[in-house]
Amino acid sequence: LIVSITGATGFIGRRLVQRLLADNHVVRVLTRSRSKTKSIFPAKEFPGIIIVEEPEWPKCIEASSAVVNLAGLPISTRWSAEIKKEIKRSRVNTTTKVVDVINCLSPDVQPKVLVSATAVGYYGTSETQVFDEQSPSGNDFLAEVCREWEARAQGVNKDVRLVLIRIGVVLGKDGGALARMIPLFMMFAGGPLGSGKQWFSWIHLDDLVSLIMEALSNQSYKGVINGTAPNPVRLGEMCEQLGRVMGRPSWLPVPDFALKAVLGEGASVVLDGQKVLPKKAQELGFSFDYPYVSDALKDIITSDKKL
Ligand code: NDP
Repeated sequence: LIVSITGATGFIGRRLVQRLLADNHVVRVLTRSRSKTKSIFPAKEFPGIIIVEEPEWPKCIEASSAVVNLAGLPISTRWSAEIKKEIKRSRVNTTTKVVDVINCLSPDVQPKVLVSATAVGYYGTSETQVFDEQSPSGNDFLAEVCREWEARAQGVNKDVRLVLIRIGVVLGKDGGALARMIPLFMMFAGGPLGSGKQWFSWIHLDDLVSLIMEALSNQSYKGVINGTAPNPVRLGEMCEQLGRVMGRPSWLPVPDFALKAVLGEGASVVLDGQKVLPKKAQELGFSFDYPYVSDALKDIITSDKKL
């Protein structure tokens, strides 16, 4: 495959690029900053990667067989009105840009598949409900962002196979929520965060990347697919498991204010969760290497996997 990727320089994108190259695919990185991207993917270690800034995105997309769309301003920040606008704008505008380029191409040069990120925030939050791909959307800010983000992707020509992955909290060592939670966890000796009853729909970074790889190459993958592990846990259990793996007993609760201090309003992603099941991925026969959070955490905390 020849794969063009937006957001390739991010936490998920970096691992995806690594996997694509290991499988001998051709990677084109669509970025806002060529110089930053060159330092993330130095030519010596990543020979053959093509890095392009926005004005050249169309040329790159035209010559690709697949596109993965991951771009978006991180949500783990303090949410001023301005930031909220940018959280939405960065996702909606990038997706629109990519879709517009694809739609202008004649079918013979059009990419065959678009895999576009969205999030479990689509469903809103609940301590009691269970969500799968058929569940309706919620009514908070993140749900609204996800609806619009998905709607823009759904504007792609019908002959391009579209896969929308509603991603849960991605667990990996070098980024994402876990990297921010661990120091806090150490500080408070690792108790539950907030009430601990909130649902935490997580996925190991490697499983998410495998799901994206499968979505790129397997024709049966189509439409919305939840990118979450089959065994979501309540946050209390997540913290207990994290404590166990880190050799720290789970005693003191980490107060909401401390989490908000490091994650800003984006803490809501961890503090108000949702229980999301990967019904479609399982129907498609996708096999998770890390179905249980204890194994996922053990792998992440004890391994030295780097980019
Ligand atoms: P990162 O924040 O690590 O990377 C996102 C990439 O988006 C950046 O590398 C950057 O690429 C681009 N970007 C950043 N800010 C902007 C902006 N203002 N406008 C346009 N592009 C921007 O994200 P992740 O890898 O963690 O996640 C990838 C996608 O998956 C995101 O859209 C995220 O919302 C979604 N997701 C992630 C989850 C997680 O737990 N990590 C959970 C649910 C969904 P560049 O600088 O090269 O242009």
